[in-house]
Amino acid sequence: MEKILVSACLLGDKVRYDGGSKLSNHNKLQQWLSQGRVVSICPEVAGGLSVPRPPAEQQGSRVITQQGIDVTEAFQNGAVIARNLVEQHQIRYALLKANSPSCGNDNIYDGSFSGQLISGQGVTAKALTSCGVRVFNEHQIEQLAELLL
Ligand code: SF4
Repeated sequence: MEKILVSACLLGDKVRYDGGSKLSNHNKLQQWLSQGRVVSICPEVAGGLSVPRPPAEQQGSRVITQQGIDVTEAFQNGAVIARNLVEQHQIRYALLKANSPSCGNDNIYDGSFSGQLISGQGVTAKALTSCGVRVFNEHQIEQLAELLL
């Protein structure tokens, strides 16, 4: 049965920058979990960042915290680990948290830390898309479900 890469915070893991989660109780996600199809990752934690951690946003090709620390390398490390998981499990679909600088598939924050969204992808979402994975967010679970066998 085809596996799906899922953001750990959507599964209730307290891995967000603020120490919280973004649990999704969507019945399709619960079904995929019970079927053993879910491969979980938090790219930022996998890449070496702690919980909690300072919020970060993309600024051009870099990822910078609100305090001005460059955390691009950790974000890239997380993306590499996600890509490795995808290859290992032959994954074609991912369900990632919307708007995250790692996981966002359609939008990201604009780098001004003012809550302004722009079109763009998080570092991991972009890396997965570039190797052929179709990335959905938690508001697009029904669309993903239609594609899954
Ligand atoms: S990096 Fe992705 S999985 Fe980790 S907390 Fe942020 S949105 Fe969730």
